[in-house]
Amino acid sequence: MITYLTHLACAACDQTYPADEPQHLCTCGGILLAQYDLPRLAREVPRERISARGWNDGLWRYAELLPGVPPERRVTLGEGATPLLAVPQWGMEGQVELWLKDEGLNPTGSFKARGAAVGVTMARQLGATHIALPTAGNAGAAWAAYGARAGLPVIVAMPRDAPAITQHEVQLYGARLHLVDGLISDAGAWVAQGVRSDGWYDASTFKEPYRLEGKKTLGLEIAEQLGWTMPDVILYPTGGGVGLIGLWKAFQELRTLGWVPADQPLPRLVAVQAAGCAPVVRAWEAGADATAFWEGAATIAAGLRVPGPLAGALMLRILRETNGTALAIDDATIHTAMQECARAGLWLSPEGAALLPALRTLIAQDWLHPGERVVLLNTGSGLVYPDLV
Ligand SMILES: *Cc1c(COP(=O)(O)O)cnc(C)c1O
Ligand SMILES: [Zn+2]
Repeated sequence: MITYLTHLACAACDQTYPADEPQHLCTCGGILLAQYDLPRLAREVPRERISARGWNDGLWRYAELLPGVPPERRVTLGEGATPLLAVPQWGMEGQVELWLKDEGLNPTGSFKARGAAVGVTMARQLGATHIALPTAGNAGAAWAAYGARAGLPVIVAMPRDAPAITQHEVQLYGARLHLVDGLISDAGAWVAQGVRSDGWYDASTFKEPYRLEGKKTLGLEIAEQLGWTMPDVILYPTGGGVGLIGLWKAFQELRTLGWVPADQPLPRLVAVQAAGCAPVVRAWEAGADATAFWEGAATIAAGLRVPGPLAGALMLRILRETNGTALAIDDATIHTAMQECARAGLWLSPEGAALLPALRTLIAQDWLHPGERVVLLNTGSGLVYPDLV
């Protein structure tokens, strides 16, 4: 089995770790990023080989840019290969070329399926016997489904007021559900306890490196769907930041490989948050290097209710590095946007719908320029939020 994965490296201090055993955080507390032998990959694999594959393999069409796993060991439910839809009606009267990447079509209704597919595959490869994670809702549903597919027990901790449908899904898939009176951060503390006492495999956001690799395929797909070029701007509804960091990692790898023009700047990444939980926006506006815990987090966009993201500092670095920005949208505006999108045939998640008012704000501020290619990243389906209609 050919693998181009060479090792893991800390995003904060560059310390390296072998990739052939379970790894979680760096000893410095930093996040571990999977590293590939990109020069060798560039020599041995032309991008045409990827394009010739057809879309049946979903995100696994990018196998060379993922950990090497024999096809029969992949845990898949048909994730990835989602459409990139033209949505000219919101594009500044045709001046901005506007696209919507619709992740609502993934198994379990959100882009969490990408992270779970690769994350569960690698947990099983590395010998995990029990997978545990805290969640605001959608990640729990996804990891429970992929755990069931893999035959691995999953333990999910989530806030008692997380969307009821995701609580039901977790149980339906046969995972153990633990409810906490609090937020995802409190659920995280409960999971950490079980990881220490019972040896569970910690699949918390960024506490294993492969959820990010799965979500990275989002960026690979967008580039391929745009004819192996990068858009100018991507608006992304930001919670823990796995998608944001995944996009950044994907485009950097593509540029190093020469699969997208090496002289093209990285897309300007825009972190869109809910006004009721906006630690990244607050830190961005203050010019801070790290996020501070957001007290009293509350929003209908459950996936954005992450008051203390572990990767706060890295997200801020990426927003700066890509000349991006961050802005918050209030729940009433999100709700109205959901209705407007639905009338265009697009029942988006509240997280995804928040991108439409964010787009309008950026247009009004002349932050977006005529002729730019802009992608709205809808992270989930409105069907996962039946309580909001
Ligand atoms: C989890 C989630 C998000 C936030 O994703 P991160 O990778 O944690 O930033 C956004 N939208 C939906 C629908 C989600 O489930
Ligand atoms: Zn480190």
